[in-house]
Amino acid sequence: MPPRKKLVLAYVDSLRTDMLERAIAEERAPTFGALVERGVLIPDCVSSFPSVTPVASAEMVTGVGADRHWISGMNWYHRLERRYVEYGSSLEATRAFGVFLALYDLVYNMNLAHLSPEVETVFESLEDAGARTACTPFLIYRGRRRHEVSLEGLLKRAVDVTKLKFHHHTWGPTDLFYGDLYASRDVPCKSTSIPGVRDGYAACCAAELLKEDLYDFLLLSLPDNDNYSHQHGPEATVESIAKADRAFATYAEEAGGLDEFLESHAVILVADHAQTEVHRGLPLAELLSAEWSVLQPSEERPELAQLAVSPTGRAAHVYLLPGEGERAEPLEVAARLGVLEGVDLVCRLEDEDGTPLRREGPGTPAGAVWAVVERGGEAVRFRPGGEVADLRGGGWEVEGELAALAASVEDGRLRSETYPDALARVWSALTAPHAGDFVVSLEPGFEAVDWGGVSHAGGGSHGALHAGDSLGPLLFVGCGPESAAAREQWALRDVAPVIREHFGVRDG
Ligand SMILES: [Zn+2]
Repeated sequence: MPPRKKLVLAYVDSLRTDMLERAIAEERAPTFGALVERGVLIPDCVSSFPSVTPVASAEMVTGVGADRHWISGMNWYHRLERRYVEYGSSLEATRAFGVFLALYDLVYNMNLAHLSPEVETVFESLEDAGARTACTPFLIYRGRRRHEVSLEGLLKRAVDVTKLKFHHHTWGPTDLFYGDLYASRDVPCKSTSIPGVRDGYAACCAAELLKEDLYDFLLLSLPDNDNYSHQHGPEATVESIAKADRAFATYAEEAGGLDEFLESHAVILVADHAQTEVHRGLPLAELLSAEWSVLQPSEERPELAQLAVSPTGRAAHVYLLPGEGERAEPLEVAARLGVLEGVDLVCRLEDEDGTPLRREGPGTPAGAVWAVVERGGEAVRFRPGGEVADLRGGGWEVEGELAALAASVEDGRLRSETYPDALARVWSALTAPHAGDFVVSLEPGFEAVDWGGVSHAGGGSHGALHAGDSLGPLLFVGCGPESAAAREQWALRDVAPVIREHFGVRDG
C-alpha cells in the first residue's frame, strides 16, 4: 500500500460555485482551476442552517448538525446564563456586548464551553489515532494539545490588558495559529486580524509547517472572501477569490509547485456557505419591541424581558423568556413574525396536541415533538421516523402543506430546490439546545440588523435556509468519492467523515 498522503482542508469563506467558475474562466484563479481539473467537484454542497460561519464550521469539522454540536448562530441567547452570546457579528455588535466578553466567547467559550463535549472534532479524532494536526485561524479548533492564549495583541488596543489578567490556556491541534491570540511556534508571518490580509497569514503559516514537515492534516483557512463579499456583494468576488487562489499557490509553492504538492497531499476545497445580495436591513428586535419587552445587550435585570432576539445574518433566533410578570404568548409571537416584511420562514416546535413548545431550559426538547414551518399562511409539520425520504436517506413523517417549503414528494422522496435539505436542517436548528423557540429565515434581499445596528445592505450576506445562501462548492482531490454521483445530495456534515476515512479513523 502506498504511504497515505497528507490532507489539507482548504476552506474559502462565502465562496460561491458560480463565482469560483467565473474566476477560473477569467484566469484569475489558476490554482483552484487546476485543482478542479484534477478532482471531483460537487457544485451544490448544502451548508448548515443558519448558514453562518460558526454553525457551518462546527458542522464541517465534527460531521454533525447544531442539534449535536450545539453552536447555534453568530449570536444566541444562553438560557442558563440569561445573556446573549456574541461571536462578533460586527465591531459595533462586539462593542454593544463588551469587547472582552465577546472575545472570551469567540476564542475560548466557543470551543471549550459551547461546543458539545459529546462530539469529536477531526483534530481530536486524528490526534487520538496518532496523526499530527494543524490549523490556521479558524473558529472551531478544539484538539488535544494545550496552547497558551495571549489576548494582549488584540486587547491592548481596546482596553488596559494588565487589569484583565486573562491567562487561560486552550486546547487545540498539534499546531495552532490564531493571529494575535496564539501561535504554537515562531513563524516569520505577520499576524493580523484585519480582514483582507488574513489569507496571506494563513498561507504563510501553512507554508512554514510544510517546509518542516510538521503535519499530517492541515486546516487552511482563507476567510477574506467573506468580508469582501459582505462589502461589495457576491458578484464582485472574482477579486477576493483571486487573492485566496494566490494564497493557496504560495503555500503549494513550498512543495515546489502544485504537481509536486499533489504528490504528497490530498486536498478538500470547500465553502462554509454562499452569499446573496442584500438591500435591506430588518431591525427585528426593534420591531418586536413595539409589543413585547426585548432583552437588550448587557441588561441589568434580564428577568423582566419577555423575548430575546438573536440576529444571525439572514436568519434569527427568537426566544420566549420565562420572565417575571406577563409572558409572551407563543402563537402571538409566531403570528407577528409571520407578517413582518422580510421574514420568509417561521420555524418552531410543537407537541403532539399542536401546542407550541416553550423551551424553559437549555437542554434538547424531550417528547414527541413536531417541527413546524410557516410561510405566507401555509404550514407544514414534520418529525423524524416516517415513510417520506429525503435526498440523504433520512425518513420523515410529514403533514400539511408542502408548499410552505416549496417542496414536492415524488416516489416517496421529498425534494425542494428552494430550500435544500430543508427537513433535516430545520430539525437540527430547532432541536439544538441553544436554539430559539422560533428560528426565522429571511426573504432574499433582507438581512437581520445585528445588535450593533449593522447590516450589509448594499452588499452581500448569508444565513437563510434558502438555496442562494446555502449551496457552495465541495471539491475532493486525491480523496473522497470517485464521482459526485456517489451521493444524491452532499452536505457539510459529509466533510468530517471523508477526513476520518482518509486517515483510517472510524467516524465518531
Ligand atoms: Zn459572513
